[in-house]
Amino acid sequence: MKAMRFLFFLGCILIIHQHAYAQSIRCGSSQWIELAEKKYPGYTDAWKNVTAAFQKNENAKMTLPMCTIQVVVHHLFHAAQDSISDSLIFRQMDILNQCFNHQNADTMHLRPVFGPITGKGAGIYFQLAKKTPLGVITNGIERLHTPIDGFGDSLLGFPEKVKNAQNGGLDPWDTQKFMNIWVCDTKIPGGDLLFEGYATPPPNLPNWPSGFPGPEFTDGIVIQNEFFGDRNPLSQQADSGRGKVLVHETGHYLGLRHIWGDDYQCQGDDGIGDTPAADGPSNMDCDLLKNSCLDSILNIDFPDMVENYMDYSHEDCQNTFTNGQAIFIRWVADQYRTGLCQAGNSLVATLENVPQIKVFPNPAQNILFLESIQGGYTCTLYNTMGQLIKTEKIHDSMHAIDISGFENGLYFLFIQTQTDIQMVKWVKAN
Ligand SMILES: [Zn+2]
Repeated sequence: MKAMRFLFFLGCILIIHQHAYAQSIRCGSSQWIELAEKKYPGYTDAWKNVTAAFQKNENAKMTLPMCTIQVVVHHLFHAAQDSISDSLIFRQMDILNQCFNHQNADTMHLRPVFGPITGKGAGIYFQLAKKTPLGVITNGIERLHTPIDGFGDSLLGFPEKVKNAQNGGLDPWDTQKFMNIWVCDTKIPGGDLLFEGYATPPPNLPNWPSGFPGPEFTDGIVIQNEFFGDRNPLSQQADSGRGKVLVHETGHYLGLRHIWGDDYQCQGDDGIGDTPAADGPSNMDCDLLKNSCLDSILNIDFPDMVENYMDYSHEDCQNTFTNGQAIFIRWVADQYRTGLCQAGNSLVATLENVPQIKVFPNPAQNILFLESIQGGYTCTLYNTMGQLIKTEKIHDSMHAIDISGFENGLYFLFIQTQTDIQMVKWVKAN
């Protein structure tokens, strides 16, 4: 199998990677840049404007409230055995939430040298939609057993027809209100070249020309079936993925670029102040000895950050965004994907919707109780500014949190079990 990872935002140089069993092309974005530059001259310069605007007032961006984004997964499969399970999708969503909020357990492998530039979550919560655009109850997953054996398009180069029901795909839900993910076979029928994933940048982001990505592209993320989720049974790799392909693509969907700035010889810049420079992408490895460029971030010359989701390192060593990336993502969501946050925040789960763990009373005055059949979960509290207030591992079936010192107002409570992560709102009131 040949796999092409067309990472759609700004480009990278085509790299050829030799998997244990096959050759794959992990990134084809350099062709994309050439295409974009020809079609919309000047977009590269425009990128500098958006990052400059961001950097100008970086501290203010810290105070944005939590954003909930409703997600729909459109899953299309040709052979019945290529269908992925609901549980794989649920687990992928948990990984996405953990990674975007710096709550993933594998941050323990993050090298201490990166401590000064990591630790912040983006303050974004991804929730499978509970209602369709027409108000019908849903689990946020659409499935289609399709006669089409591969949605790749030799003319356009991208499997965009998967996003159109008239072409045998599934139509997007309102792209202003939902993050659409298509999980499908991206191959051109009869071929063996495929995309691991690609994503559209936010429409109207100033680093793209007006009108880009253009009407031929539908807003959202596409992931190849076997690259979706954690230890996907469809993967032909003995060492299957860890759910980080979607994390990477969602980073692009929310405006991030690759950490090497899509250029070589330390000439690239991703526009984020605290990402260590690199002279190119990692080659699917975890080279902890590499320090390809001289940095002066907080007066530190950092090694290459193979832990970063926006590198091409092995998924096993990807475990973090930098603080600057986290803040930038949240800012882009606020500025350029405004409808997503607005729609999602009005649909956050109520306390009654959270199974197994009961949170009461609401509003609460001095003590907030968490009741479950047994403990074994973590609760994390954020205020509406997205600031971490408290995090606790809960081991008992009835747990009391002293909130007497909290300021009155709305809070977000993340409840993370081994298999699930959910967020609920509660109010502190005297
Ligand atoms: Zn990428």
